[in-house]
Amino acid sequence: MKLDDFRASDNVEDHRDGSYGGGSGGGLPIGRGGMGLGAIVVVLVVSYFTGISPQTLFSVVNTVTGNGGGVITDNSPAPSRTGTPSDIDGQFVAKVLGATEDTWTQIFQEQLGNTYSKPRLVVYNGVDNTGRCGSAQSAMGPFYCPNDQKIYLDTEFFQEMKSRFNACPTTQGACAFAQANVIAHEVGHHVQNLIGILPKVDQMRQQASDTQANALSVRLELQADCFAGVWANKTQQRLNFLQNGDIEGALQTAQAIGDDMLQKKSRGYVVPDSFTHGSSAQRQKWLTTGLKSGQIKDCDTFSASNL
Ligand SMILES: [Zn+2]
Repeated sequence: MKLDDFRASDNVEDHRDGSYGGGSGGGLPIGRGGMGLGAIVVVLVVSYFTGISPQTLFSVVNTVTGNGGGVITDNSPAPSRTGTPSDIDGQFVAKVLGATEDTWTQIFQEQLGNTYSKPRLVVYNGVDNTGRCGSAQSAMGPFYCPNDQKIYLDTEFFQEMKSRFNACPTTQGACAFAQANVIAHEVGHHVQNLIGILPKVDQMRQQASDTQANALSVRLELQADCFAGVWANKTQQRLNFLQNGDIEGALQTAQAIGDDMLQKKSRGYVVPDSFTHGSSAQRQKWLTTGLKSGQIKDCDTFSASNL
């Protein structure tokens, strides 16, 4: 993976020395009601659970909202340090985040006729106060908090990908793209939030049985994998950054990383990565789908009869 042409984002919050005590701690109720999406939710619930051939989620979202239905405002206090970290891990994260910003801005314009709004990414050590999604701990793995639109990442996780999970080959630097893909997956959840899928699925899950809720979660996770592939496809067109072994390394990682690494907690609000992610084969399939197509419409895991 070549990072030379990647623009470093300045939307990284560095909490790694533990000095940051921010976050409102207030806990925003997830019921972001009155979004005007009630009708969509009804359609989707009915179509999903009855098996009546549904319109795709995307066509529904495009037709009805035409904007980021799930967007919420971040009211948390200004972070103490936001910018571009100077160390190797921090630079890597900032560059990958920058590439997601630029590529998703392009994808939103070209494929949705819409404006992309950038998430922030918090890097931390050990434990961090997320403010809006409870306490973040390394054991959880990276995750996206829809309440504050931030991605939380302990860079130790990158080491664990190699050591504990034996997830990606260390030869040819192929682990870098696998690591970038982890960030791209979390950004995929942010995209789901912006286009209204995350809040809708959250609402559907609350009315569903455990089994149905779990199935919805799997579809959410596989779609985030697919979105990560879409990002890589379009970024490759833009920056020609992939090198031999990169895709194999990412696919190997998709196989290696499963639910066993995630601390499962009952939180009472959506933190997608606390859910089941789907089987290794499913994760590889949907990442590949996005990688090959570069089109978000091909990531409609919610209409797919066969995952
Ligand atoms: Zn996820």
